[in-house]
Amino acid sequence: MSPIPDSGRDTLAFARASYRALGLYDPLREPCEVDLSDNTNLFGVPPSAGRALAELAGPAVTRYPAVYARELKRALADYAGVAPEAVVTGCGSDDVLDSAIRAFSEPGDTIAFADPTFAMLPVFARMNGLVARTVPFRADGDVDADALLATGARVTYLCSPNNPTGAACSAATIARVVDGAAGVVIVDEAYIEFAAPHASLAALAPRRANLLVARTLSKAFGLAGLRVGYAVGAPPLVADVEKSRGPYKVSGPAERAAIAALESDRAWVGAHVAEVVANRARFATALRDAGRTVAPSDANFVLVRVADAAAAAAAMRARGVAVRPFPGLTGVGDAVRITIGPWPMMERALAALTEADQ
Ligand code: PMP
Repeated sequence: MSPIPDSGRDTLAFARASYRALGLYDPLREPCEVDLSDNTNLFGVPPSAGRALAELAGPAVTRYPAVYARELKRALADYAGVAPEAVVTGCGSDDVLDSAIRAFSEPGDTIAFADPTFAMLPVFARMNGLVARTVPFRADGDVDADALLATGARVTYLCSPNNPTGAACSAATIARVVDGAAGVVIVDEAYIEFAAPHASLAALAPRRANLLVARTLSKAFGLAGLRVGYAVGAPPLVADVEKSRGPYKVSGPAERAAIAALESDRAWVGAHVAEVVANRARFATALRDAGRTVAPSDANFVLVRVADAAAAAAAMRARGVAVRPFPGLTGVGDAVRITIGPWPMMERALAALTEADQ
């Protein structure tokens, strides 16, 4: 007989009430020959990071990593053009965003963001007991600063370039939101390396009281599997994110490989970013020449209108190309998001899309 008697109680009764309607994150992750579904770097592992990982054994594995990733912060600070005290790291920028939202709000407060944006925002809102207020984009494609400010939100999230639509917010709009917001503004720059040079607000953020800029090594740096994200802001803001984040979030091996990539692979990253930007223009032109509607993109993906997103993605997958379907996006309709990679992959995507969505 089991030493603990079965109480017969309902396991679900113990769940936090606000989590009941919350699902697990579930993008279709079945392997696919050409996977253009998750906006990662399709050119492989940065060479120095790969070597650092191959050499790993011993202390980086057996001991705890640095509590708040001090060495990694130094390398990230140098890359972002700020002081190490202005940087907080995390287990992917997902972790940084979640920790930041929690650090600057209480349960019941409001978080405001544009719709459509990064799909995890409503989830982070619910996980932290916040009320989400969404605001549609303006007709000219920019974020509606006035509507966001009118919410009086405790936390405002801007994604620039925006996932899944692709365009960066205008500098004037971001300035208006940061200047007028009642609370903290988080600008998510996960895709900033693919945008116009100098579009990043990271270098400026430490001198603003309420601006936190979140970034990641998952996209341009090709290290999504290592889960290294970071944010830049005024040292007191960053310290609060660190409190809510907790210790030891970046693993020792991830820290070593990320430092190697930041110190020695910037040229590798830059060359592949340039190739993505060139392929993005070529791919969008080919799609538009074929009569398709493609949203302007400053990121490493494009959003393409289709008649039926789920059907088009399934038909493309059957032809060996995975893309991310977005049915019924606000202001857009049905669309698929296609990551930009080496040109032969884009040719496969063009052919598959042509057959999948006539
Ligand atoms: N922000 C945006 C806009 C994203 O698209 C993603 C990944 N899809 C993330 C943050 C999270 O990336 P990671 O946790 O890998 O840093």
